[in-house]
Amino acid sequence: MTDAAGRRELPKTYDPQAVEGPTYQRWLEMGAFRADAASQRPHFSIALPPPNVTGSLHIGHALDHTFQDYLARMHRMRGHEVLWLPGMDHAGIATQNVVERELAKQGKTRFDLGREAFVERVWAWKAESGGRILGQMQRLGDSVDWSRERFTMDEGLSRAVREVFVSLYEQGLLYRGQRIINWCPRCLTALSDIEVEHEEVPGELAYLRYPLADGSGALVVATSRAETMLGDTGVAVHPDDPRYRDMIGRTVRLPLVDREIPVVADAAVDREFGTGAVKVTPAHDPNDYEIAQRHGLEAVNILTEEAVVNANGGRFEGLDRYAAREAVEQALAAEGLLEKVTEAPHAVGHCYRCKTEVEPRLSLQWFVATKPLAAEAMEAVRSGQTRFEPARYARTFFTWMEGIRDWCVSRQLWWGHRIPAWYCPNGHVTVARQDPSACAECGATELRQDDDVLDTWFSSGLWPFSTLGWPDDTEDLRAFYPTSVLVTGYDIIFFWVARMMMFGCHFQPAAPFRVVAIHGMVRDAQGKKMSKSFGNVIDPLELMDRYGTDALRFALIRGANPGSDVPLATEWVEGARNFANKLWNLGRFVLSSVPEGTKPEDLPAADQRSLSDRWLLSRLERTRAAVTAAYDAYDPAEAARLLHSFAWSELADWAVELAKPRLAAGGEDARRAGAVLAYALDVTMRLLHPVMPFVTEELGRATACAGSPAWRRSRSGPHRSAVARPPRCWPPVPSCTCRWRA
Ligand SMILES: [Zn+2]
Ligand SMILES: [Zn+2]
Repeated sequence: MTDAAGRRELPKTYDPQAVEGPTYQRWLEMGAFRADAASQRPHFSIALPPPNVTGSLHIGHALDHTFQDYLARMHRMRGHEVLWLPGMDHAGIATQNVVERELAKQGKTRFDLGREAFVERVWAWKAESGGRILGQMQRLGDSVDWSRERFTMDEGLSRAVREVFVSLYEQGLLYRGQRIINWCPRCLTALSDIEVEHEEVPGELAYLRYPLADGSGALVVATSRAETMLGDTGVAVHPDDPRYRDMIGRTVRLPLVDREIPVVADAAVDREFGTGAVKVTPAHDPNDYEIAQRHGLEAVNILTEEAVVNANGGRFEGLDRYAAREAVEQALAAEGLLEKVTEAPHAVGHCYRCKTEVEPRLSLQWFVATKPLAAEAMEAVRSGQTRFEPARYARTFFTWMEGIRDWCVSRQLWWGHRIPAWYCPNGHVTVARQDPSACAECGATELRQDDDVLDTWFSSGLWPFSTLGWPDDTEDLRAFYPTSVLVTGYDIIFFWVARMMMFGCHFQPAAPFRVVAIHGMVRDAQGKKMSKSFGNVIDPLELMDRYGTDALRFALIRGANPGSDVPLATEWVEGARNFANKLWNLGRFVLSSVPEGTKPEDLPAADQRSLSDRWLLSRLERTRAAVTAAYDAYDPAEAARLLHSFAWSELADWAVELAKPRLAAGGEDARRAGAVLAYALDVTMRLLHPVMPFVTEELGRATACAGSPAWRRSRSGPHRSAVARPPRCWPPVPSCTCRWRA
């Protein structure tokens, strides 16, 4: 809509729905987010933490993405060559579960289909239902370079995974070994330590009496899992415990199973626990496994993969672990060997995917020897190559890294990167970059590939460089690695940041990021965690429908104090919508009331400015400096607060009121007042653009043909502030040749 003078006329109210979709499309069409690796401008890059292919946009993503988007847009406006690279994670267990649930509806399991057909099925699911989140990211305004979208299972990334696996193996940093791992009896897979959620549950402590083999008495051991006594191969006491000194070296007769097992002394025994004598079940407890290693005790596995008692459990075979617990206690009680059972709540590990109680299980798995890798990653942080923002999160990182244990990377799943190891009939292992046709050691040709796949975090740990084309030496890799900043919540410092640091430092010349900017979790207005069970979950898509994307983004960013949790209430999003409307009205007023031909860059000379002009310009400059400093300090909350206060009270209320009589009077003074107002509006829109891209773009388009895209392609080199230049013409003139005029 244009008026007689050719000016665009703005509708009376801001209608986000009418503006956002077309605006985003226009950005895509003009290639506004596409990065050019050959560009001579300073490079700025971010690798988007890849959302799960199963995921849809939740409020945590909305915060995380808005945070990254403000950085990407701000750097583009400064004339930097910006790459914000998007993509998705194949999310091993999560995705496999989704497809398994679909199969279950038809009464089938993955085993009915077989591996190949099942994996095909998952790909089909991905093509059809996966990746919904990508469209939702567009609604949020993410200025990512879609031409570089990657997937952790695509061909290039799979090659990177293979290269890293084989290299680590060759370097002796990856091995196969018997270990007690966390096992989910429902998902039928190993889980890493951090995939296990510990939760206090009501439990019991059963005191079991084990008679000494020579009939001279008995030992009492306490356990929360009586059924595991079927797999006991020893009893341990502390070497300095006077109560048991003369028991050491003797043997007890294990009830129900009738096996003679030794009493050993081990300093790891906690004298305060139970009776001070503990049963040793090496196959079902990591601490017991270590004790057994030290004393040469056998490991007897009594459970199947589904956590049902196996043949080693004698007459209890076929009972699941909970039923077996009861049955064992009853049987012991019948023989007078159950001293007592007390209530004892304790922390139990649960599968983070399906919440099933995790079972420690002795099995043959692949491990990454993390200690040397962690040392390199810690050095990168210590030397300042990578900096945490806020700095206190470096401590979290160090604590985790110092205590790191070898990482179990094999998963008994079908969806994921299959482990590139082959076994021959003579027991040799061949680990290779190319599928081998014969055993590397004996030449045998009957090879069987390892059935397992790699932990999802193995491939996402390579994300900052695998997405840029590594292992090839690509232009993208040289231009955009290391990335400038990683933005993420504090909850995945362990899961993800630590792994990317380890792999990046080990396989690349530099650590993967210069800065790790940590934000908090989005919570409700009372600071409570959002969860379905509390009924306080806020759906970002619904909020965008109701109040517009800018409102949601502004409300989130305004609450995002560095590193702290982010409270959010629907009313605050509503308030941010009102702010967008306020800006709209401000823009409409300026557009309709400044004299025709007014340009923001026609600021009156210093001695021609009125008192109110000087006041406004001085407030504007202070705001610009403070906002830019806050943006640069990864504190967009402060920037948002300053901008809200300036735009609302000083610019829209005071400055407009002060200018009204001058504009109404006409003449030279009206021109001067108009130019100052237009200039202040323009600068404010630019400062707000990184957080509220849609409304500012629309106002910018209406009021100046050099709207935001021109900020993106500033030709005058890097700027100290985000908004150093005024637009080229005001209002848009038909003869303008600005290439970004839409
Ligand atoms: Zn599970
Ligand atoms: Zn062989």
